[in-house]
Amino acid sequence: MDILTHTLSGVAIGTVVSSFANSGFKNKLGIVLISGFAGALPDLDAISLWSGFDPTIGNLFNLSESGKDIYSAKFWYSHHAFLHSAFAGLLIAGLLGLISYLIDSKFKGLKNKSFLESLYQKRIIMIGFFLGFLIHLIEDMPTPASNWGGVNFFWPSKSYIGGTGDIWWWNNYDIFLIVFGVMVTNLILHLIQRFAHFDLRKFIVGVFIIGFSIAIIQIKTRDFDFAYSGHSIRYQEFEDKSKQQQKEILGDKLYRMMENFDNKLNIYF
Ligand SMILES: [Zn+2]
Repeated sequence: MDILTHTLSGVAIGTVVSSFANSGFKNKLGIVLISGFAGALPDLDAISLWSGFDPTIGNLFNLSESGKDIYSAKFWYSHHAFLHSAFAGLLIAGLLGLISYLIDSKFKGLKNKSFLESLYQKRIIMIGFFLGFLIHLIEDMPTPASNWGGVNFFWPSKSYIGGTGDIWWWNNYDIFLIVFGVMVTNLILHLIQRFAHFDLRKFIVGVFIIGFSIAIIQIKTRDFDFAYSGHSIRYQEFEDKSKQQQKEILGDKLYRMMENFDNKLNIYF
């Protein structure tokens, strides 16, 4: 799935998780932003496609394969491998917790706190990070198997899960709009709560569950099978079909708006 939907899904997760924090605006914003960052992070493993990869990172680590080959292969540092696993999400969350603890104890004079106490205190932002990371992995599962056969969710296990081909790699404007809707609605709910008191968590969790359910229905009811393994000679047909589907789902007017937006972006969307 595209990086924009991944990132905003992380932000949407952040709006939910931050409603569980009894802290101020700055802290809640931090949770939302770090969750959005986590939503984008797994695709850092596509860095091997970068044109400067071979002379820099490839050279540094003495890699025998080219970045392009690494991307499609099943090395632990290939696309959809380690960085698309739940373990990576936990490990990076822990590392960020450690860095934050070291900064606190070195510069803020909070020397009396133990590392575990510090982790416990920051548990909500770490949960936001982990769930933002996790939603990315889940969103990649209904895309085609291609060379990987899904994502290496249970790394270090060698099994890949997903790769069902329910949806195309991108052009999932309907899913993007659902994610966008959840994110905006929840941000508005957060704002309203500053002026009117109501059970924010209940509403925010409700909005998220409704959005998540509609997205699953949209994914599971595409009337076309995009599944393929390895390479597909029908690639262009799939690409065209995914756009045609969006036209049918969204109607001409909204589809044209989304296509215009897509054309303005410098990423696969
Ligand atoms: Zn991904």
